[in-house]
Amino acid sequence: MKIAYYVLIGLGILWLNITAAKTLSDDISQEMAQNALITIQNNNQTLKNDVYYSLSLLTEKVIQKEIKILSDLKYISQEDVEVLSGNINLVYVAQYGKNYGNFQAIKQHNQINLKNITFNINLFSSEIFLNDFVDDIRRILLHELGHYVSYQNPTLLQKFNKICKKNSCKKKDYVSNYAFSSPEEDFAETFAYRYFQRESHNKFYKPVNETNLLKQKLNLLEDWFE
Ligand SMILES: [Zn+2]
Repeated sequence: MKIAYYVLIGLGILWLNITAAKTLSDDISQEMAQNALITIQNNNQTLKNDVYYSLSLLTEKVIQKEIKILSDLKYISQEDVEVLSGNINLVYVAQYGKNYGNFQAIKQHNQINLKNITFNINLFSSEIFLNDFVDDIRRILLHELGHYVSYQNPTLLQKFNKICKKNSCKKKDYVSNYAFSSPEEDFAETFAYRYFQRESHNKFYKPVNETNLLKQKLNLLEDWFE
């Protein structure tokens, strides 16, 4: 009985989230009607009757909207928009662990180019994720774009990595636990953190005490954000 009760509560929460997502989806739809900047590959056709389908459509819209903001702010160029277009994929991967998004690049003639950015729509099954659906999608997008920016600016990445190499950073010198996992993830996470600092209601990252070394990393990104 207890289990049935919890299942009911669980379903209720899911229903609330989906209803909220649908309303939001309608709002964004109207806004985006004439502003679709990029194409997003959505292979979620097999789940057409599933709740995942409407969430994947919403994901597309959230990404579209954010790309428009980034483009209006001149953080990304028209060329970037073209590169990203068609290379952002929504896929359903059953066994994906905690890997919500993925970035793949390919090396061609000494140049590293974007292969794709993937969002695993299986993450929609996570209740924690659904609680802040739009914000979670934005955070994944900005993290993956951080990887994109680092590949485009190898000198910036080198300088960034040097800060922790030279000073052997401690956990407190990173914006998140995930940033601590590797220099690449540190760049992507710090990049996303810096991006969301523009927003007064920054709920994407737990407030961190900006240590001297973390400040150095953030300052280095400053030029890029200007
Ligand atoms: Zn990453």
